[in-house]
Amino acid sequence: MDYQQLIEEVYQEVKTKNPRGKVADYIPELANVDADRFGIALVDLEGKVYGVGDYDQPFSIQSISKVHTLTMVAHIFQRKLWSRVNVEPSGNPFNSIAQLEFEKGIPRNPFINAGALVITDALTTKFENPVEEVSRFIHEVSGKDCVTINQDVMNSELRHSERNTALAYFLKAYQNFDNPVEEVIKTYVAHCSMEMCCVDLARSFSFLANDGYSIYAKREIVTESEARRINALMLTCGFYDESGEFAFRVGLPGKSGVGGGVAAVMPHQFSIAVWSPELNEKGNSVKAIMALELLTDKLKFSLF
Ligand code: GLU
Repeated sequence: MDYQQLIEEVYQEVKTKNPRGKVADYIPELANVDADRFGIALVDLEGKVYGVGDYDQPFSIQSISKVHTLTMVAHIFQRKLWSRVNVEPSGNPFNSIAQLEFEKGIPRNPFINAGALVITDALTTKFENPVEEVSRFIHEVSGKDCVTINQDVMNSELRHSERNTALAYFLKAYQNFDNPVEEVIKTYVAHCSMEMCCVDLARSFSFLANDGYSIYAKREIVTESEARRINALMLTCGFYDESGEFAFRVGLPGKSGVGGGVAAVMPHQFSIAVWSPELNEKGNSVKAIMALELLTDKLKFSLF
C-alpha cells in the first residue's frame, strides 16, 4: 500500500470538494487560527511517516489530549476508575450539565468534559505536577519533545471556564471529585491547550494501533487488553454525539478536538492525524472527517 499516494489523493479530493464549517470561538483565542489550514500525517508501525499539507504545523489538540490522560490513569487505577466513569456513548453535547445531574455524578464516559474532569482529578491525586507528567507522557509515547502549551489559548479558556467549573462542582457534590476544583480545572485547561503537529500526534497514538506497545518508548504503555478498551471507547465515544456517524462513515477508533484535529488508529496497521480548523455543528472538523471517510473507502477496509 502506497500510503503517501493515498493521503495525497485524499488531500486533493477534500481540497476540491472544500466542505466548510465554522472555527470554534467559544474559546476566543481558538478563533485566531487560519481556517484554511489542512494537513494529514500517517505513521505506520515501523515508524515511517507520510505527510501532506500542513502536517508539520502545531495546532491546539484540545480534547484529543483526553486520550493521553485516560491512558495515564487507566493503567494506574485499572478497575477502580471505572466505578467513577461509565463507558457509554453520551448522545448529548460534550459539556452537558443536565446529563450529569440525571446520572447522579457518574459521567457517561471519559471523553465528555465531566468524564475527562474525573480523569484529570485522578491525575491530580497521583502526580504532584500533573501537567508536566502529561507532557512527559506524550513525549515518551511519541518519541520526542513535541508538546508546547499555548499560554494564550490556556488563559483564554480559563477566562471562560464557567461550564467546566460547574461540572466539577457537580461532581464534587456527588463525591466524585477529590481535589480542589480550581486546581483540577487549571490542569485540564492546560492539557487541552497543548499544541502538536499531525506527525507527532499520530506518533503519540501509535501504541494504540500496536496492542499497547510503543515503538518509540520501546515498552508496553498499556496491556493489549487496555489498548483494546481505549480503542473501543474512542470508537463509541470519541466524536461527541456524532460518534455513531463517525463509526458509520469511517469505522476507525479516534478522537476529535475543537481545535479541528482528529487522531485515529487502524489497529495493527497505522495511526493517523488530520487537522483542519472548521467544525460542523457537533464540534468535529468537517475536512478531517471527510478525509478519513475517503481514506477508509479507498483502503477498502476499516475496523469492519
Ligand atoms: N477545552 C475544551 C473544553 O473543555 C475541550 C473541548 C473539546 O475539544 O472537545 O471545552
